[in-house]
Amino acid sequence: MQKILKIKNLDISFNIEGELYKAVHNINISLSKNQVLGIVGESGCGKSVTAMSVLKLLASNAVIESGEILFKGQNLLTLSTKQLQEIRGSKIAFIPQDPLNSLNPLYTAGDQLMETIIFHRHVSKKEAKKLAIEALKDVKIPEAENRLNEYPHQFSGGMCQRVLIAMALSCDPEIIIADEPTTALDVTVQAQILDLIRKIQKERQTSLIFITHDLGVVAEFCDYIAVMYSGRVVEYADVKSIFKNPLHPYTKGLLDSLPSQEKKELNVIKGQPPAITDKTTGCVFHPRCSCRMDICDKIIPEKTEPASEHSVSCHLYN
Ligand code: SF4
Repeated sequence: MQKILKIKNLDISFNIEGELYKAVHNINISLSKNQVLGIVGESGCGKSVTAMSVLKLLASNAVIESGEILFKGQNLLTLSTKQLQEIRGSKIAFIPQDPLNSLNPLYTAGDQLMETIIFHRHVSKKEAKKLAIEALKDVKIPEAENRLNEYPHQFSGGMCQRVLIAMALSCDPEIIIADEPTTALDVTVQAQILDLIRKIQKERQTSLIFITHDLGVVAEFCDYIAVMYSGRVVEYADVKSIFKNPLHPYTKGLLDSLPSQEKKELNVIKGQPPAITDKTTGCVFHPRCSCRMDICDKIIPEKTEPASEHSVSCHLYN
């Protein structure tokens, strides 16, 4: 299948008080047209940093040390700010984690939506208004025409997220990056927003990168899953393989911690992931791993591919 996005050998560090600490280590992932890739892991594992690097929306102290991010063969890391601005929104759009803080409280939803449409589609204000109403209708906002004139505080969290999804879709992007888009919402609204994203992705055949800490969520609509731990992709496979035949002890731990009707109590992965400033030797997961062997705290495991399109970084498979 045609690869629309390839992240190759990506290393990103953060400058903390003059010292560089690596947050993302040698990431290699790709996304095909009309495919949904889930990036899963605990908070601070580098999943958002990896996804944000595609749009170069990183914190000011982030340093992309090496690697390439190829969008249809063009390395986004070499583009000027102006060139990137043209791609952001129109070709690659972003749905943020915190809808209430992602809209400008001083402007109406319509102003913000129309500004995006005018910038990327170079249409008149009248045409932008028409497109903005259509975009709000597409994300099932009732009375779209009236709600265009309302300010963010007049929307619920779920409705704000719908406005942001409308904004992301308004220029018909080829890739959508959704960064934990339901985390800040009430449980009842979460399912509605997930359904909406899934429906839109299918209808428009958009490629989607879906970032989440919840493996249960990705099971529903991802094609491939990259499991990240402490800045590394520790396992990558299609969704069926991850759920039926997980290889990495961390992936198994995440699956074990999912609630189910059969479980009397939830299993948890003991311990905490290392901080970016910690110096761990060998496998970064070894302090928490129940399968740990002598070699594990000494040597970093290489990536191996025990099955086609199923890779893992763990000494158990070397
Ligand atoms: Fe566990 Fe060792 Fe595999 Fe790391 S390399 S996940 S410590 S078995």
